[in-house]
Amino acid sequence: MIPFLDLKQLNEPHQPAIKQSIERVLASGWYILGREVETFERQFAAYCQTRHCIGVANGLDALTLVLKAWDFPANSEAIVASNAYIASVLSITHAGLIPIFVEPDPQTYLLDPARIEAVITSRTKAILPVHLYGRCCAMEPINTLAKRYHLKVLEDAAQAHGAIYSSKEYGHRRAGNLADAAGWSFYPSKNLGALGDAGAITTNDDALAEKLRALRNYGSTHKYVNEYIGQNSRLDELQAAVLSAKLPLLDKENARRRELAKRYLTGIQHPDITLPLADQPDHDAWHLFVIQHPQRDDFRNYLRERGIGTDIHYPIPPHHQHAYAEFAHLSLPIAEQLQQTVISLPLNPTLTDAEVTYIIETINLKRERAKE
Ligand SMILES: *Cc1c(COP(=O)(O)O)cnc(C)c1O
Repeated sequence: MIPFLDLKQLNEPHQPAIKQSIERVLASGWYILGREVETFERQFAAYCQTRHCIGVANGLDALTLVLKAWDFPANSEAIVASNAYIASVLSITHAGLIPIFVEPDPQTYLLDPARIEAVITSRTKAILPVHLYGRCCAMEPINTLAKRYHLKVLEDAAQAHGAIYSSKEYGHRRAGNLADAAGWSFYPSKNLGALGDAGAITTNDDALAEKLRALRNYGSTHKYVNEYIGQNSRLDELQAAVLSAKLPLLDKENARRRELAKRYLTGIQHPDITLPLADQPDHDAWHLFVIQHPQRDDFRNYLRERGIGTDIHYPIPPHHQHAYAEFAHLSLPIAEQLQQTVISLPLNPTLTDAEVTYIIETINLKRERAKE
């Protein structure tokens, strides 16, 4: 059996460092917003090459808090890809904004900059590019448009820890340092995952960072003094300590993900399968390896019968969710089609070469069968 993802196995190489971190927090007697959080914030800001990192309770809060901090008028609009993860859309509506869905480029699965300008109105205030599956959106054209229309840009970097964007003007830059701010999740299955919920915001904006530090803690700048109507979205010391223990291995783990992704990219040869675009395999964080198959469910069963676990990211597009019945009338054919054809293969740093060989052979064997 090759499971799609085994979280226990994923944390196995980190166990000694994690145990030390937990001991340290226990010995300190300090549990929320303390030295461990400050240390991790400093380390993660340095990793992303940003001026600030603000630890929060989870990824959804990270995105929501930034949109709230910008204080847009009610019913302002935020642009997001139609195939985004539900949390990206939730952050927009939680902040009192209206999501405007733009179809992705079906090759990259990412917000298509060429389709953005057509939906910009006087109510548009922000663009939320989601670096889905670990690949950075086309940030230079997105930022250029945003500048022209005076829009804020918030990266949803929850799947892109360590991903790189490069262009002539930007050089090589890490996700999280590509817009006005970025929201991060450290949910256990992410490339950098805690032992529970955790999140962060990175930004180079000093005033925004200061406001976010208050907003995550009841809107308080000094104890019992409240500047804003904030919320409780504090990062705890244990999760911060665990993240600090795991961060030094992130680049090595991402390198392994890239190695495995490249094996899939060259090894899988099947006329029915569309592989993800791989023009920059050494830049992507490869949070997920998502292929497309026209008979996705049959294909998934075929793999399951041969002991290979897969997952679907995601089976229902946001505008077809019950929770968002108000958007059910929208026609977003690219997102709707992707949701029927995408399937994620196992990809994580603990996957062995032999396992990947078996997965590739099993997939290619299906082609031979189909020919007979
Ligand atoms: C995981 C994820 C989130 C939300 O993170 P949580 O910590 O689960 O709240 C947001 N956006 C994307 C793209 C994600 O993958």
